[in-house]
Amino acid sequence: AKAAGRNTLRFFDPQMQAAASARATLEADMRLGLERNEFLLYYQPVVDAQARITGVEALVRWQHPERGLVSPAEFIPVAEQTGLILPLGQWVLETACAQLVEWSAQASTQRLTMAVNVSARQFRHPEFSNQLLSLLRVSGANPYRLKLELTESLLLSDIEDAIVKMGELRSIGVNFSLDDFGTGYSSLSYLKRLPLDQLKIDQSFVRDVLNDPNDAAIARTILNLAQSLDLGVVAEGVETKGQHEFLLRAGCKAFQGYLFGRPVPVVQLDLRVR
Ligand code: C2E
Ligand code: CA
Ligand code: CA
Ligand code: CA
Repeated sequence: AKAAGRNTLRFFDPQMQAAASARATLEADMRLGLERNEFLLYYQPVVDAQARITGVEALVRWQHPERGLVSPAEFIPVAEQTGLILPLGQWVLETACAQLVEWSAQASTQRLTMAVNVSARQFRHPEFSNQLLSLLRVSGANPYRLKLELTESLLLSDIEDAIVKMGELRSIGVNFSLDDFGTGYSSLSYLKRLPLDQLKIDQSFVRDVLNDPNDAAIARTILNLAQSLDLGVVAEGVETKGQHEFLLRAGCKAFQGYLFGRPVPVVQLDLRVR
């Protein structure tokens, strides 16, 4: 009776109805936006221990005619629910590969890596690896420069399938990074089985790394774990010199965050070696 009551309530809840209709509008808008090429990629630098840029993470944006620049936090979940993530995700991969090809023509940029976020529904699609293999072939992008960022929940939902897909793509050089590491339910046994190249320390641990002993301990543990599993680590959300110094001292060798550069359109990306 209680469950039914809750359902009835939900059905007539004006707030939830408003949310549902806002979502439907957003979905319709996104379909149009895809047709009208309103999506674009921003790039955020990833730097090494000497603060030299080694690569970027591609972060999608939506330049909506009335809404302005819409954050992916707003539209990626809707894209996931509606399946629009499939065409959008494919567009992101195509655009990122085209950028890699452009960078490959110049000595100063040809070694940059491109990290691309892949969402669960996109990765689980049975054609995901075939489509990406053919995109890499057709575009001519170097697979060794491409890094796919996956999340723990995505990998855990069907670990056997994930291992097969990752293996196929890794055999031609594609790299894999585990995004938002530490926020999920990772068990060490599964971490060992996954063919990963890198872990990303989630920014929620970086934020208070100087003030919260628990976060400092977590960051150190992730760095030690990565070292013993022979994985690279990127600390994300590094905003201050203090955070950077702490992480450097703890053995971290790659960083991403506002301290080094915000996500920007490619023309604003500063690729000069500092
Ligand atoms: P994420 O993959 O964890 O990306 C990192 C987010 O942290 C980005 O937010 C970035 O702008 C932000 N960030 C970077 N440095 C700092 C910093 O120093 N301080 C703070 N406070 N934030 C920082 P953004 O661009 O809004 O993206 C949000 C999320 O949307 C991403 O989180 C990712 O999960 C998703 N996303 C973005 N682009 C794509 C995409 O092309 N495909 C998919 N599937 N998801 C995407
Ligand atoms: Ca990411
Ligand atoms: Ca992340
Ligand atoms: Ca995140």
